[in-house]
Amino acid sequence: MTEPENRPVRTRYAPSPTGPQHIGGIRSALFAWLYARRHGGQFILRIEDTDQKRTAPGSIELIEESFDWLGLDIDEGPRQGGAFGPYIQSERLTLYQTWAQWLVDQGHAYKCFATAEELKELRAAGTGYDRRYRDVPAEQAAELEARGMPYVIRFKMPLTGVTAGRDMIRDAVEFDNAQLQDAVLLKSDGYPTYHLAHIVDDHYMKISHITRAVEWLPSFPLHLQLWKSFGWEKPQYAHLPVLLNPNGKGKLSKRKQQFADAGASVPVLVHEFIDAGYLPEAVINFLANIGWNFGDNQEMFSRQEAIQRFDLKDVNPANSAYPIKKLTWLNSQYIQTSTVEELARLLKPVLQEAGYTVVDERLLEVAPTLKVRLKTLKDVVPMAGFFFADWAAFQAPPPDILLQRKMDSVSTAMVLEESIPVLQSLEDFSSGSQHGVMAHLAKDLGLKNGQVFGTLRAAVTGQKVSPPTFETMEILGRDESVRRLKLALQSLAQPTN
Ligand code: GLU
Repeated sequence: MTEPENRPVRTRYAPSPTGPQHIGGIRSALFAWLYARRHGGQFILRIEDTDQKRTAPGSIELIEESFDWLGLDIDEGPRQGGAFGPYIQSERLTLYQTWAQWLVDQGHAYKCFATAEELKELRAAGTGYDRRYRDVPAEQAAELEARGMPYVIRFKMPLTGVTAGRDMIRDAVEFDNAQLQDAVLLKSDGYPTYHLAHIVDDHYMKISHITRAVEWLPSFPLHLQLWKSFGWEKPQYAHLPVLLNPNGKGKLSKRKQQFADAGASVPVLVHEFIDAGYLPEAVINFLANIGWNFGDNQEMFSRQEAIQRFDLKDVNPANSAYPIKKLTWLNSQYIQTSTVEELARLLKPVLQEAGYTVVDERLLEVAPTLKVRLKTLKDVVPMAGFFFADWAAFQAPPPDILLQRKMDSVSTAMVLEESIPVLQSLEDFSSGSQHGVMAHLAKDLGLKNGQVFGTLRAAVTGQKVSPPTFETMEILGRDESVRRLKLALQSLAQPTN
């Protein structure tokens, strides 16, 4: 078997359409994509729906949406088409059936008529399938088939010796044949198993490199033997390490979970990353950093930079704990480095979804104040949603928001009373000039800047946390700001309870 070092690079992502996309699968896809892009090759999407019981309707659309969102372009696939289609396995059944029969004809595989009861008994006895149909003479098998007995096709695994192969990440690997079973290649319903289907497809689709989860490593000898039986040029295999839960214990679960040491609940499905307000660039950067690193101690890099350096050979074989905390950091970095227009474009749907009517002009004014403050896009809602609410309906906040540290309603009212005329008479209502006069006022009143600025912030936003007070007032404008300060003053004057 030749190692195809010089084949044109064609990689693929081959998910089973079982529902929303898990981030572990996406990481495998990303590595395949990066490798294809690095070598000017093609990246293919193939849907492996041979287990019809596990197939969930709408999955292909979810997969496509996930890739669109992540910006991972697919060269060939169910939607894109291509010269090697169809790209959905259930549409290629005759091909697998033909090749399974070919293996039988060549003596590499056999029809096994063991019934469900027989197999159950073998399992109960703890022996596993005992190859009882492996050496049944051809005429006898033909007779059973003619009688309409259901059968599967099993591979004739060598009974002795070793199967040796090479994995791009682990180098030489070797397996003892005596430990292996005669795996099913074609099921009694005429559907192939993964073992047969991926080899037939990877051959026909001219795949040069297979990237898949390390869970497939135990089946690797079977696959190597299958390639050998077919006599086809074998692609290179890279068995990727899996993602572990953030605490390093166990494979990353399929469902969003609460992990004590990771803080908030941990997203694992692509749509959960979208919903949580992460940027696709940050997610790509985050995933590329798991099991591979850019080098130079550089954690933040663009996908273009990753393409220039990525090599499957450099992937670390060890499984890694899911470093979810880094994602939040990366996300805030991507938010900070995006342009105001780009940030506004990303924030608009988030605000709209929260029920706000977004005027672009206002969003462009607000966005610069948010850059260094948002960890996720979702943070815009509690932080700055008030800019997009109906201003006329604004209500003064209750005392627990309004009163700052070591202040009471008397000192708060004093700050508001003193501020109003100062702001009203300020010639230039820019944030810089407001800051100057208000720092002065704080000094005159014997208060800390934080107490005065915080009072104004709470009064005009109704919140404890917001963009900087004076930038906020500049955007609200003098009239609206002063109106809100007066409302706060009135509410303080009202008797509580
Ligand atoms: N359908 C297989 C899976 O989801 C694909 C493995 C592979 O990439 O070959 O695990």
